[in-house]
Amino acid sequence: MSMDLTFLGTGSAYPSPHRGASALVLRTDGDCWLFDCGEGTQTQLMKSQLRAGRITKVFISHLHGDHVFGLPGLLCTVSLNMTSDPPQRPRCVDIFGPRGLRHLLRVTLGLTASQLLFPYAVHELEPTSDQSPEEGQLSREVTMEHGSLHPQEQVGRSIPLDPHSDTYLLFEDERFEVKAFRLYHRVPSFGFCVQERDRPGRLKTELLKELGVKPGPLYGRLKSGQSLTLDCGRVLTPEEVLEEDIPGRKVCVLGDCSSVLGSSSRQLCSAADILVHEATLGDEQREKAVEHGHSTPKMAAALAQECNVRKLVLYHFSQRYKPSTLQKEGEGDDICELKRQAEEALQGTGTEVVLAEDFLTLQILLKRTR
Ligand SMILES: [Zn+2]
Ligand SMILES: [Zn+2]
Repeated sequence: MSMDLTFLGTGSAYPSPHRGASALVLRTDGDCWLFDCGEGTQTQLMKSQLRAGRITKVFISHLHGDHVFGLPGLLCTVSLNMTSDPPQRPRCVDIFGPRGLRHLLRVTLGLTASQLLFPYAVHELEPTSDQSPEEGQLSREVTMEHGSLHPQEQVGRSIPLDPHSDTYLLFEDERFEVKAFRLYHRVPSFGFCVQERDRPGRLKTELLKELGVKPGPLYGRLKSGQSLTLDCGRVLTPEEVLEEDIPGRKVCVLGDCSSVLGSSSRQLCSAADILVHEATLGDEQREKAVEHGHSTPKMAAALAQECNVRKLVLYHFSQRYKPSTLQKEGEGDDICELKRQAEEALQGTGTEVVLAEDFLTLQILLKRTR
């Protein structure tokens, strides 16, 4: 199964001609999951190879505009494009985000008389009071939903922090488990961990041939974990004929933050194939970055090192940093300096550092071993 990550916006605060506001898409076998949806995400999507109509899940890290202003418009455009012939079967779009997101969408879609051709549900994460300064916390009155559901809205879940695991279980199916964890920012912010499940290794076909098991449905039974009784009476277990499990891939995407809360968050991100972390400003502006609830490359690298991740991807850059292709020697702030800072901090660890640019796609390959 293929898996890739495409950055649609890598800038902070607002979209500029050089950098879109925060948005990225994790694609698995054609299914698209959108992480954050800053203003202009829909036009970025149109410029990319991705199809907005394939978005089945949306994850919003926090309610700052540069991460959410694009969502109502994107939903409306997806809906407009659904009138094509033959009619597409409407699937419910599941939207996950902090408490208040349901109200935001209901009011925006309601006041603009926006009708959607598909159902949607907002599943809200309940923040804790240590995720932001007090002034960044929304009272229950402000986030309370008034009136009835939007006509296309389905009842969503409210997801409290699980005190045992110190994480939020967003959903799980036979392929994935997706959890969220807490970050510290000017308003409550979250990180997301997408863990693909391990899958059975390859069948040892030579051995099966020797044992006289013919290819066909019996192979499928062994692969699905069932034992077989051979004609001679011998019981063949899947362990005997399957190679080692293929480890599932892990992708962690963090919203804006100056720190990660809870030790289990680090466990969750441990050995991730990709850790996407913000680096709004360079290390020389650390104080300013932290004051605004943001991180620098060295701070992102410290987490990457603690979690022993394979690849650290930096994004959410201040708009003062032009993409490297537009950077002129010795002119203005150099984005490559941010990469150097993270690389220096990670020297000798084996963790690769990547600077995200708009429309960068990273393939996430299956590992054969742990
Ligand atoms: Zn932001
Ligand atoms: Zn923010």
